[in-house]
Amino acid sequence: MLIETPLSTQLEAQRDDRLRVLVVGAGIAGITIAQSLRRGGLHPVLVDRMPRMEHPGYMVALMPTADQAFVDLGVQEQYRAASTPLERYRFRSHRGRPVRTDALGELLSVYGDYNGISRGELIDVLTDAGCPVTYGTTVDGVDAKGARFTDRDGSPIGEGSFDLVIGADGIRSRMRGVLGAGDVEAVETGWSGWVAWADSVGDPALGEELWGDGFFLGVYPVKGRLGVFLGGPDADIGAGPAAFAASVRRRVDELGPRLAASLEAVATDRDPYLWRLDDARVPRWVLPRGVLVGDAAAGFLPTAGVGAGMAIEAAWMLARMLSHADRGSLATVLAAWEAVERPRVEAAQSNSRMLARMMFRRGAAIAWIREVVMRMLSVRAALGPIVKLVAELPDPDAVAREALRD
Ligand SMILES: Cc1cc2nc3c(=O)[nH]c(=O)nc-3n(C[C@H](O)[C@H](O)[C@H](O)COP(=O)(O)OP(=O)(O)OC[C@H]3O[C@@H](n4cnc5c(N)ncnc54)[C@H](O)[C@@H]3O)c2cc1C
Repeated sequence: MLIETPLSTQLEAQRDDRLRVLVVGAGIAGITIAQSLRRGGLHPVLVDRMPRMEHPGYMVALMPTADQAFVDLGVQEQYRAASTPLERYRFRSHRGRPVRTDALGELLSVYGDYNGISRGELIDVLTDAGCPVTYGTTVDGVDAKGARFTDRDGSPIGEGSFDLVIGADGIRSRMRGVLGAGDVEAVETGWSGWVAWADSVGDPALGEELWGDGFFLGVYPVKGRLGVFLGGPDADIGAGPAAFAASVRRRVDELGPRLAASLEAVATDRDPYLWRLDDARVPRWVLPRGVLVGDAAAGFLPTAGVGAGMAIEAAWMLARMLSHADRGSLATVLAAWEAVERPRVEAAQSNSRMLARMMFRRGAAIAWIREVVMRMLSVRAALGPIVKLVAELPDPDAVAREALRD
């Protein structure tokens, strides 16, 4: 549970810490770091710009790269109870016909769990031990003297001294600018889409995607319901979810009850979450005034379903490696973390970008070629680089010890 806590209380609690850490952004990455450091005896200060966590959230399919963080936090059983195994993945043609169904869960089960969970449930799992946070608060400057806190309107509300400032404020990060990240490299697809919830229909362990001619429909189970994503080119979705869902219905021959219910859920949701399909990458994660992690460091397109899995991994790695650091060795440990983790996250992001080049295209001919390719390409091949990352998770303690020995 996130526990709303005054900033002064958080600052006081960490006064005597071996490392005084500030985490800006209480999302998936920020909470993973804060909770992991807390379990290691520190009292990181955690702030979030939002007044509180209140949006209905969305579905997240988590690769096994996240598992070790749950184990370390002692919440693996809670995670399994709050999520649902994703055993199968089905790819459908642009007219709705099932092209292939792969046993993705079985492929990944050698390495760990591959489960669907809602963002809200995931945050509850990560904060099971209780997680202090100060809402309505951000940081507009960091220098040698410390960090300057402001409220959401930019009015100053205090300062604090820290050994490490971590920017974990998501894909539209402002901490990139505050910490001096330099230029952001982004892929802008020109597509966006809505996220909605539907009642569970059909196989609860089956995720499905319909890559259409000028639209994309994805259905992903979480416990007891379905997360639905319906997207298209920005120029076409302007008419709104109901009109766009109706146009998709006309373009698909084999919708079936499950996809029909999913389209209906988007069409009738009064305020579906709109997701712009862009990504972002900064050239360096360790910066003179702090570090970036999660989507702030590398924000993902949805095509490989791995952004949160990699954000949790990078956050967990950082927290575990920091358990070996003191003020004197901090720079060495941070450099070692970036050297190991950034190439892994960027490899996953490149895999996601490669799939996006096939997906965010329109035209019947393109759709037909894509289906021929997908008929021949197994999920193992399409997600090859990501499966390799899952199989080769580094040992953070060994990486940190090695760096400190040099
Ligand atoms: C619809 C959707 C579906 C997705 N599906 C999947 C999936 O199936 N599998 C998967 O692995 N990934 C998925 N992702 C990606 C995944 O959600 C992100 O990669 C993950 O949330 C990144 O975590 P984060 O902590 O970096 O950012 P976020 O979780 O976005 O958290 C950022 C936090 O920072 C706060 N914040 C923002 N600005 C400031 C500021 N200036 N100051 C202070 N706080 C600030 C925000 O309020 C938020 O709490 C999906 C994303 C979306 C939108």
